[in-house]
Amino acid sequence: MYNPKSLKAEEFICHEEILETLAYGEKNKDNVELIDSIIQKARLLKGLNHREASVLLACEMPDKIEEMYSIAEEIKKKLYGNRIVMFAPLYLSNYCINGCTYCPYHGKNKHITRKKLTQEEVVKEVTALQDMGHKRLALEAGEDPVHNPIEYILECIQTIYSVKHKNGAIRRVNVNIAATTVENYRRLKEAGIGTYILFQETYHKESYELLHPTGPKHDYNYHTEAMDRAMEGGIDDVGLGVLFGLERYKYEFAGLLMHAEHLEAVHGVGPHTISVPRIKHADDIDPSVFDNSIDDEVFAKLCALIRLAVPYTGMIISTRESQRVREKVIRLGVSQISGASRTSVGGYQEKERPTDTEQFDVSDQRSLDEVVRWLMEMGYIPSFCTACYREGRTGDRFMSLCKSGQIQNCCHPNALMTLKEFLMDYASEETRALGEKMIQDELANIPKDKVREVCREHLEKIERGIRDFRF
Ligand code: SF4
Ligand code: SF4
Repeated sequence: MYNPKSLKAEEFICHEEILETLAYGEKNKDNVELIDSIIQKARLLKGLNHREASVLLACEMPDKIEEMYSIAEEIKKKLYGNRIVMFAPLYLSNYCINGCTYCPYHGKNKHITRKKLTQEEVVKEVTALQDMGHKRLALEAGEDPVHNPIEYILECIQTIYSVKHKNGAIRRVNVNIAATTVENYRRLKEAGIGTYILFQETYHKESYELLHPTGPKHDYNYHTEAMDRAMEGGIDDVGLGVLFGLERYKYEFAGLLMHAEHLEAVHGVGPHTISVPRIKHADDIDPSVFDNSIDDEVFAKLCALIRLAVPYTGMIISTRESQRVREKVIRLGVSQISGASRTSVGGYQEKERPTDTEQFDVSDQRSLDEVVRWLMEMGYIPSFCTACYREGRTGDRFMSLCKSGQIQNCCHPNALMTLKEFLMDYASEETRALGEKMIQDELANIPKDKVREVCREHLEKIERGIRDFRF
């Protein structure tokens, strides 16, 4: 029944295969010889399949876990260097006809304020985001064919790309909206989206149906097969994710990797990103009623093992997580974080963070300038790079850049140039001073002489007011 090449959800995310995988992990959790060989495979950047990775997840030997963490750090450094890509979510509308039991936007919530941005409000939100320094957005909207039809989403994307405020610009719009048709994915692609993101929430079909009792999202197969339709519609960068806390994490982890293996087997390219949200408090949602919540230790182990299993897939963490947790998992493999997020509709235009339409509580409430400074104090380069998508390096072309070892000659200078823009246009004095020093130090870490020279020239031009250089 299990078939990673099948286009049927129940065959590529096969329940029996997941159960067998969990049993295999449990049986081998003390099998040092096997564990060592799996760790060695990961060290060679060969990735791990769901069975191998599940053995490591089941393993509880402290010395082996330490080894996994140290390899995750090694891989992170080798493939992503010390760069962290920044983005912000933009909530367009919280009208939703689904019944997701963990989200306050569920259709039966009658007391939450419902809002949908007009195009004028989109301009205001985008202007506020540009004024912070953001260049990359993730659009969020509930599912509602009357209030948020695809035409509305497309119009918003067009508006967002059209806003040019001072030196600001949104250069990449990723989209996180409900599963839809091949035709609608094609239209999103034509509108110039970067990644299409859709969280699976849970891979456990029975739980999925209970957690989504009403609305179109109830259809597990339609939801799970969405990425195949997105790829058929021409979107070759897709982002997976589960909401940890809904089901047993070992089950979700195996399912997530099977999904990645399926995309690779069918489309020749795995997921562009994996997000790792944990369930949080919001409006009428109490996370303690979901009894599968995971603690920070397990969360860190999951992040490290995702890094080992799919080394070339970016990993995203949001402001759901606290500064402390973010510090830990950035080291272990997270490559993209959001900063200064407002998880409500219209939140960026307000001086104070509004909470009446929030999708979840924000644990990390610092400003973007503070987040940028914090990253640099830890030795990370905050990057506002959007180059690949704009150079057409998506899907397998992006993967070949990753695998060619040229990342350091591409992502690294792009990170420095976009950081320079941020420092010139948006940073506080303290952040600017720290950033200028970091750029000077990090220039030396561009391997190719020619690239280093061109980067230096571009940095000077940015100093003189010219913007938007990229490799
Ligand atoms: S998770 Fe998405 S689909 Fe579900 S209620 Fe919330 S906004 Fe709607
Ligand atoms: S060059 Fe491409 S892979 Fe590197 S940070 Fe920029 S967009 Fe990402």
